[in-house]
Amino acid sequence: MGETFVVIGGDAAGMSAASKAKRENPDLDVIVFEKGEWVSYGACGMPYYVKGEIAELEDLVAITPEEFREERNIDLRTHSEVVGIDREAKTVTVERSEANRASEPRAGRNDPRANDDGTYEQAYDDLLVATGARAIRPPIDGMDLDGVFTFHSMERAREVRDIVAGDAAERPESVGIIGGGYIGLEMAEAFDARGLDVSVFEMLPHVLAPFGDSIAETVEDHLREQGVSLHLDTLVEEISGEQGRVAAIETEDDRYSVDSVLVATGVAPNAELAESAGIELGETGAIATDEYGRTDDPHVYAAGDCAEAHNVVTDAPDYVPLALTANRAGRAIGATVAGDPTEVGGIVGTAVVKVFDLEVARTGVTDPEVAEEAGFDPVSQVVTAGSRAHYYPGGEPITVEMVGDRETGRLLGAAMVGEEGVAKRIDTVATALHAGMTVEEVQNLDLSYAPPFGPTWDPVLTAAKVLSGKLE
Ligand SMILES: Cc1cc2nc3c(=O)[nH]c(=O)nc-3n(C[C@H](O)[C@H](O)[C@H](O)COP(=O)(O)OP(=O)(O)OC[C@H]3O[C@@H](n4cnc5c(N)ncnc54)[C@H](O)[C@@H]3O)c2cc1C
Repeated sequence: MGETFVVIGGDAAGMSAASKAKRENPDLDVIVFEKGEWVSYGACGMPYYVKGEIAELEDLVAITPEEFREERNIDLRTHSEVVGIDREAKTVTVERSEANRASEPRAGRNDPRANDDGTYEQAYDDLLVATGARAIRPPIDGMDLDGVFTFHSMERAREVRDIVAGDAAERPESVGIIGGGYIGLEMAEAFDARGLDVSVFEMLPHVLAPFGDSIAETVEDHLREQGVSLHLDTLVEEISGEQGRVAAIETEDDRYSVDSVLVATGVAPNAELAESAGIELGETGAIATDEYGRTDDPHVYAAGDCAEAHNVVTDAPDYVPLALTANRAGRAIGATVAGDPTEVGGIVGTAVVKVFDLEVARTGVTDPEVAEEAGFDPVSQVVTAGSRAHYYPGGEPITVEMVGDRETGRLLGAAMVGEEGVAKRIDTVATALHAGMTVEEVQNLDLSYAPPFGPTWDPVLTAAKVLSGKLE
């Protein structure tokens, strides 16, 4: 019998690992347990499905379960939740949902592996925990009222779209969004497109905290221009209801009538399963891993939204739950398990979000407190430059905040906002961060130029040039 690689979680990290491992070593038995129905889905597209830009929820699926089973030869078991890991025995305990029992014959009543309670054990040689993250449910009264929801699953995306695109008589007219992070703001755009009155409540002084104040202010002006009511520095104390249904958002000073509420206050890693098996968590609360994605158990790996990654700028573990990190780490772990040791690679925290007509992006360390904690002496510079040559029609301003270290001149990070040319420009900065470049080196990069695409001195170069002067 060949070796068995068991994967818990059937999305970005899990399916990348399973596919890569099976491709590299076809003799490996690869078994994936997914507690839900959907596998290999693009959660990132869910706000655009709600908005109506994506027609069908199924369009978000990259590879179907049948393709995984029949073409990739992966033993994919959906509706199968792993409820325990026994590291000594090297087994996992699997609980099958009703849907699974109805559709899949494995471990049925006559199967020797089946336990009396409907669970069964599966042995592994190597195990990947790729259980993802979940939406945080903050401890505020009213979370269980009808019309209050978080947004982190395909099922929820379908429910929300059915509600906002449904019969006008039942459709909510207003939504209060608690949390001005990227999911909250993407959903603000989706709800606005569906004709709802949108209000955003953020307890911090600005939305999009990881992008920095000067970038956030531009975003806030734009949100107001789009008709979104913004309540910054505003702590929601309660969601109040009438007859079991949401009626209002209550803050310290006010009461705002709304007929639906999206709670988008961040995500938490699904690390409990690993933790209960005695696997070490890091300071962030996510599963601690080494450069190969291995936990403190050499036969147990972790990747994606449940795991920490190594931040190349701070040279410390970090938790930035994003899709590429999950895909990349999963793929590398798949290769390692198949016999080709491959590092998962570091992150620099690159992120981009569309907020109505704006592109908003960040990478590296821009928060002065985080920079100081990592031992840097951060110096920051904000510049505004055009997205095209000044004489070429259609250009838009791009605001760039770039941060460098006073002592070494090293580039630490940048954030940008503008109506065009931001999303991909941030990647120049991200690449420079991976290469450990100084601000002066960035200033001297040979970047592309033609009038329709940018000024001669690209906004990234201009920011580096001005910051470099400040660092001297
Ligand atoms: C609305 C939204 C928008 C997003 N937009 C972006 C974006 O624009 N860019 C970006 O980079 N990222 C974005 N993300 C984040 C991105 O989707 C995640 O980083 C990515 O999906 C992480 O993949 P993963 O495999 O680690 O976890 P997940 O995608 O969460 O998958 C984990 C899977 O494990 C399953 N599972 C959990 N526990 C068990 C168990 N015990 N047994 C069996 N199965 C289990 C879950 O059902 C789930 O299917 C977005 C996320 C959301 C919710």
